[in-house]
Amino acid sequence: MADFSGENPEAFRSDVRGWLEANYPAELRSADVRTDPEAIWGGRAFLGSEDPQIVWMRRVAEKGWTAPTWPAAYGGGGLSPDQGRILEQELARGRYRTPLSSFGLWMLGPVLLEYANEAQKLEHLPRIVRGEARWCQGYSEPGAGSDLAGLQTRCEDKGDHWLINGQKVWTSYANKADWCFCLVRTDTTRKHEGISFVLIDMSSPGVETRPIQLISGESPFCETFFTDVKIPKDNLVGQVNGGWQIAKRLLQYERQNISGGFGPGEGAGGSSSDLGVMARNYMGTDETGALSDPDLRGRITRNKMDFDCGYKTINRIAAESKASNGPSAATSIIKYAVASFAQERSELIVEMMGSQGLGWTGDDYAAPEIGAVRGWLRAKANSIEGGSSEVNLNVISKRVLGLPDPQ
Ligand SMILES: Cc1cc2nc3c(=O)[nH]c(=O)nc-3n(C[C@H](O)[C@H](O)[C@H](O)COP(=O)(O)OP(=O)(O)OC[C@H]3O[C@@H](n4cnc5c(N)ncnc54)[C@H](O)[C@@H]3O)c2cc1C
Repeated sequence: MADFSGENPEAFRSDVRGWLEANYPAELRSADVRTDPEAIWGGRAFLGSEDPQIVWMRRVAEKGWTAPTWPAAYGGGGLSPDQGRILEQELARGRYRTPLSSFGLWMLGPVLLEYANEAQKLEHLPRIVRGEARWCQGYSEPGAGSDLAGLQTRCEDKGDHWLINGQKVWTSYANKADWCFCLVRTDTTRKHEGISFVLIDMSSPGVETRPIQLISGESPFCETFFTDVKIPKDNLVGQVNGGWQIAKRLLQYERQNISGGFGPGEGAGGSSSDLGVMARNYMGTDETGALSDPDLRGRITRNKMDFDCGYKTINRIAAESKASNGPSAATSIIKYAVASFAQERSELIVEMMGSQGLGWTGDDYAAPEIGAVRGWLRAKANSIEGGSSEVNLNVISKRVLGLPDPQ
């Protein structure tokens, strides 16, 4: 067994490379491998599954490398930030699939490490690392989105348990989740100071989810109803009425991860598509070989530069935050910027496709063209999810620039 505790980064890189090569399931190298698209999210539904994606996830999780820098005591890899970065680089270099994506890894785990008690960490973190529990986020309510602290879902102390009643909305994948991290009201007389952060098992009696159909044709999120749902007293994280601090911290992790997810090729058209190549295919070139439409040429170039700079900045900020105290309010800057670059990119793609960028179904349109239209519609959500662009501008003005609240 290789020793990963050493300080020599190149020896570590070589060990990681060898391990990945030796342990990547052969089936996943095949172009026509079939895996369940939901498998990457893990969860109870995949316990015991032999889907190649799950086999890969289990092998990586065994080393703690699904959460490389979390402490080994909670199932993580115990790697330093530098070692974690080397692992990321090697996963990208070898074009290995992401072993596990989850709200547990991106959002909940980091705040449990900061705010949960020891028993809660030991119960939940290893299951997140192993992809055995899929989590959803119960924040937004019909009357509480941007004004999140206006939430009304009640959580009453019944002595030996908490009793939850209320409704959440836009709960992504709630119908597929095993657990929900949820903001609830434990004091109706105070606003921010009356909120608590609780963990709800979605199989509890009284939990109901209803998927919502989106403009893109998909149903990735739900209305979630809690009717007399009993949860154990131990499922409240941090202090009673102290949930707002945890909620805000989790949003910083969320915004950092949403921005990181917009790679240079993100958006309509697929991750491997280069805007310049696509534009040449659809619009042709002039006698110099340049894109024939000078206006589009300029806008494509600017978008590519924006993305490139944005992506490098995200990587730098992410590396800095991993090496320090985690993300800060500055994550609102990258969330705001990258959401607008991604929307602009999706607009450019359907524009360059001309009438082929109007397809929804049917044989007249190639699959990437249909994907581009759906991606363009999906991109509308980029400036809403994880806090709207306007709300992020408010955070930037208040928490980053220190400007006063508007009167
Ligand atoms: C794809 C997607 C996934 C999501 N997943 C989840 C999830 O898993 N869990 C969850 O809890 N929520 C989720 N959400 C909900 C998301 O967090 C909310 O939609 C978002 O916070 C905005 O709230 P709202 O929709 O109620 O809009 P509102 O708060 O009603 O805002 C409406 C408009 O008013 C503007 N506005 C509001 N207040 C201000 C202000 N003070 N200053 C300036 N402008 C303002 C907003 O920017 C927006 O344009 C998701 C949303 C999307 C699009």
